[in-house]
Amino acid sequence: MKKIPGIPVFFHSIRFRLVVWFTVILALVLSIFSAFIYYNQARDIRGDAFYSLERKMTDIEIALAGDGGTPVMLQASDVLVIIDSGGKVLAYQGAVTEKNVIDLVKNAQAAQQQANVSHAEPQISWFQEWKGVSSPGAGAVLTSHYFFILKPVSAGMRSGFIILGNPFDPYGLNDRLLFTLVIGVLLTLAVAMGGGLWLADRAMRPVHTITNTARTISETDLNRRLNITGRDELAELANTFDAMLARLQTAFERQRQFVADASHELRTPLTIVNLESSRALASRRTVDEYQRVLGVIRSENEFMSHLVNDLLTLARMDSGQMGMEMNRVDLSDISLEAVERLASLAERKNVRLETGDLPELTIDGDKRYLLQMLSNLIENGIKYTSGDDKKVRVDTGQDGNSVWVRVSDSGEGIPPEHLPHLFNRFYRVDKARSRDDNNETGGSGLGLAIVDWIARAHGGEVRVESVPGEGTAFEVHFKISRTAHD
Ligand code: ADP
Repeated sequence: MKKIPGIPVFFHSIRFRLVVWFTVILALVLSIFSAFIYYNQARDIRGDAFYSLERKMTDIEIALAGDGGTPVMLQASDVLVIIDSGGKVLAYQGAVTEKNVIDLVKNAQAAQQQANVSHAEPQISWFQEWKGVSSPGAGAVLTSHYFFILKPVSAGMRSGFIILGNPFDPYGLNDRLLFTLVIGVLLTLAVAMGGGLWLADRAMRPVHTITNTARTISETDLNRRLNITGRDELAELANTFDAMLARLQTAFERQRQFVADASHELRTPLTIVNLESSRALASRRTVDEYQRVLGVIRSENEFMSHLVNDLLTLARMDSGQMGMEMNRVDLSDISLEAVERLASLAERKNVRLETGDLPELTIDGDKRYLLQMLSNLIENGIKYTSGDDKKVRVDTGQDGNSVWVRVSDSGEGIPPEHLPHLFNRFYRVDKARSRDDNNETGGSGLGLAIVDWIARAHGGEVRVESVPGEGTAFEVHFKISRTAHD
């Protein structure tokens, strides 16, 4: 089947639906309103017709009684039939044929029977449709709806019935009103539909702008914005869209930077391995020289494994595949476990690794990640502490609703200008220092980024205080476990 371009799209558009709904509702309201007006007028006209019929009947009765009174004013469109009590037509007058009269009498008798009226009970009225009679009266419109009254009369010794009828709506007012209402409603709907389309078109214009711009934005030009001004809902939507683009742009740029930094970090050890091995292979070397080269290769390899592990951890964190299992855990227990794990490293480095009281402190957390966080902090302490009496200390405690763990060292500290960037990925205070002196643990600048991520994933926060020449203290604050409170 061939699609007619444009049309299906239009029929699915909000514009179209808005206009349709609007028109349907308006049509409903106008119809109810018109029906109300029409019903009221019809009722009034009916009332008038009946009233004038009764008046004429009274006039006839008075005339028959011979009291003089006002002359009977019958109009050309009125119908008067006189029958005797047996139903025989005695006389008739008005816009009727003979056949009409016969019909009329039949109807009158039927109505009489139905009402079961005795002679004493005076009148019956009915409404009847007339076919094919033209009313010759001046000004009267051809109409076929009549009201009739049947009334028993007696004049002298004779008694019979008078059937008197007049048109229900002699001037065709009802039909005219109906015509006016229908035309009026249709015209209003047409105008409303046109206006509605125009309005909906105007209101939806920013949506087109948004759609067209969004279509042209690709991953490479995330710096484009919609920049729609105003305070309406669509401007709000556009602004939200712009804000989302800004976030995406930042995320993309961070990702790009991350990949660039990671490649850069891996290039250095790979170059060192390449250079050292090429040099060793160029000619025969002494055993000592080979041992030195292999030592260098091993340490660079360790650095790279460490880096790749950290990169993997961060990649998993970024993609939300950490699979954290939150349980009630004791922060002091975890701190002690981390200290025990790193005790041998501290000993090798001649660092005194101490702990404070370590009271029981329950938080909601994943033990594996908390252990990694503390290990990173303690490893850093061991790496960067210095002087004759090298010391790293781990304390835990609680103030108010928050629980903290502090890892402090007696190292040379961190200059204050570096503190705000410390948790950025690949950020190192002194690149040369962290690579040269500490081959065993290797420093890529990712450790603190991981610490920060784990702390935030637990609803916590890392604070750092450092006095150059005296030492550094990292403090991680968590909310106390709510279940432990209860
Ligand atoms: P790295 O693997 O290089 O140690 P981190 O992210 O763990 O990376 O640390 C970032 C930088 O912060 C380190 O390069 C170091 O310069 C500084 N730093 C971290 N911990 C300490 C500390 N306890 N004392 C002094 N400097 C520190």
